[in-house]
This record gives sequence, structure tokens and C-alpha cells, in this order.
Amino acid sequence: FAINMEQLVLEHELGRGNYGTVKKVLHKPTKVAMAMKEIRLELDSTRLNGILMELDVLHRAVSPFIVEFYGAFFVESCVYYCMEYMDGGSLASLCCFPNGNVSLPPSLSSSPGSAWTSSPAPLAEEHLGRIASSMTKGLAFLKDHLGVMHRDVKPTNVLVNRKGEIKLCDFGVSGQLEKSIARTNVGCQSYMAPERIKGSSPSSSNVDDAFTSYTVSADVWSLGLSIVEIARGKYPYPPETYENVFAQLSAIVDGEAPGLPDDDDDDSSLTADVSENGDGRPVGRKWSPEARDWVRRCLIKNADERATYPGLLAHPWMKMDAERNADMADWAARAIEWRDRGRRGFAIYE
Ligand code: ATP
Ligand code: MG
Repeated sequence: FAINMEQLVLEHELGRGNYGTVKKVLHKPTKVAMAMKEIRLELDSTRLNGILMELDVLHRAVSPFIVEFYGAFFVESCVYYCMEYMDGGSLASLCCFPNGNVSLPPSLSSSPGSAWTSSPAPLAEEHLGRIASSMTKGLAFLKDHLGVMHRDVKPTNVLVNRKGEIKLCDFGVSGQLEKSIARTNVGCQSYMAPERIKGSSPSSSNVDDAFTSYTVSADVWSLGLSIVEIARGKYPYPPETYENVFAQLSAIVDGEAPGLPDDDDDDSSLTADVSENGDGRPVGRKWSPEARDWVRRCLIKNADERATYPGLLAHPWMKMDAERNADMADWAARAIEWRDRGRRGFAIYE
């Protein structure tokens, strides 16, 4: 069936990106809650129809690791895109904090009986492993079943629900849509693989050139960087590079690749389990050697040496994940509550 605006009741705004607004809507005929993304494009109806036709392949993107697509339509010069509503929001909103600012609201840290005093919804290795395996399976599905790469893997494009499911959204299926979106804002945090940065020379004004100059392994880099960001609670390149795109891109191309933090790294205590050692001193939980190695293989700067999806899925860390019963619904509930409590007093993310 085809969705149109008349069937939708608009509810609140869920978030805003560089080129669109996402609202929660209710689809009256089916009573299904959906997320509707509005993308403003200055195009004629022929071109808008072309984009809708390209978006149609999304009906085939049915996987437990991909946000379900319900349909798209246009009104005036906006494309509206309806997808599964994910009631936990993005992994970025649950795990990533600008400048690593995860200090607890005073009301929480002063209540001794509260489960929230020790740590913000600790992200244990089993949770990180399940996030990594879900993202990898989603990306492998896009490649194997739709023949597309994602092109925009980052924590805001990984969504969570209270069932504990982890799903990808916002992948590039429509070349015409990609071309029409004015990518004016490169963003202060780049997830681009080094070869994408090298490939986009200023002389190539044709967007297609930039898109053909890299392959699916560029998504593997972005996957690894996203996992590191989720584990650390903040974007892994130094904050000094947030305001300076050039400094950040050269750190990605020329600097050392990021990895999972060590025990004695301050960052690790933000999201890892906090336990006590013999002296009663809290210590950050060590990420396993398997987890570190998996991430390291994603973040190999030379694209030819970087891991592939079959390689990542066959890795010992993914075997550990398959054998573990990670309680993602429990983690999601705690992370959502912590975020939403924090939001009352603090602007944590967005
Ligand atoms: P960018 O524009 O750089 O891609 P972004 O991914 O944050 O950044 P949008 O894709 O416009 O921007 O999404 C904005 C926010 O809306 C997301 O960060 C997420 O929190 C929320 N959101 C998007 N899709 C859904 C959905 N299906 N269910 C629930 N929340 C969603
Ligand atoms: Mg997005």
C-alpha cells in the first residue's frame, strides 16, 4: 500500500540532522507508530518521482538489523520517508556525549540508594559485542541482498528499541537523492575512511566521482570507529579537531588509528563496567583481547588490508557474542531511563 500525508497524524519531533527533520507520526489506517523524515529538496516532480522509484528497493530491505521502510511520498518540494519507529532513539543519544561529559545530574549522584549513582547504564562487553554483531550483519545484508553499501555508518544512524534490537537506518539506496542533498555541512565529526578523504579531491566537482572512488571497505572503517565511539562514550579523535575540519581529516589520514581504550585510560570508566579491585579502588573493565583485535581489524588504514564482513563475522569475538545471552532489552531500558532523566536537567546530546 502507498502511504500519503493525509493518513498521518503528526506527533513530536524526534530529532534533526544536517538535511532533515524526523517526526514521530501515527499511521491512522494501520495504527502503526512511524518515524517520518522530511528532506527538503528544490526539485521538479519528475526528479522527485525518480527518487521515489529508487527508494522503492527499500521494500526489499527486510532484515532484523535494518529499520523497516514503510513508504515515501513527496509534497511540494519535500520528500517524506516513513520508517519503523525505534523507541530508544539512536545509539549516539544513549552512549555518546560531547566532550565526554557524562557527569550525573546532582539529584542522582546524591541519592545513595539509586542504581544510577555508580555509572550511566554501564555498557558491558556483551552489549558492545551484540551492537557490533548487529551492525555487521545489517551491513552484510545490505551488501549481499541489495548490492548497496551504507555510506553513512555512524552512531546517530544506529537505532535501538526497548526490545533491545539494534538496527541501521539512513543508508544510500538512491543515487539521485544522494546527489540532490546539499552536503554543505561536512559535520564536526567525520566517520569517513582515510581513502574517502584522499579520494575527494577538490578538482572533482562531480559527486559521482567521489562515490565511486571508494568501496564497501570504507563502511568497515566507519563501523570500527562507531564501535570505538560507543565504547568510549565520545568521538575518538581529539576535541581540538571538532572545530577544524582540516585538522580532523588530517588526523584521520595521517594519525594513528583509534582503538578500544585501556584500563588506565580515563575514558574507559565512563561506559565500561565499574568494579572494585583489592584496594577498594574502582577499576575500569578491560575490553577483551578479542574485542580489541576485532576493532583493530576494522580500523586498518590501508583499505586492502582491512577486514571484510565475512572475516568480521567469523572472528572469535563474534563467536563469543553468539554464545552469550546478552540482555539487550535490560541494557536498553537502563540506558533510555538514564538518558531521559539526564535530559531533564542537562542537554546531553543534540
Ligand atoms: P545526519 O543528518 O548527519 O545524518 P542524523 O543521523 O542525526 O545526522 P537524521 O537522520 O535526520 O540526522 O536523524 C535525526 C535524529 O532523529 C536521529 O539522531 C535519531 O535520534 C532520530 N531518529 C531518526 N530516525 C528515527 C527512527 N526511525 N526512530 C526513532 N528516532 C529516529
Ligand atoms: Mg540519520
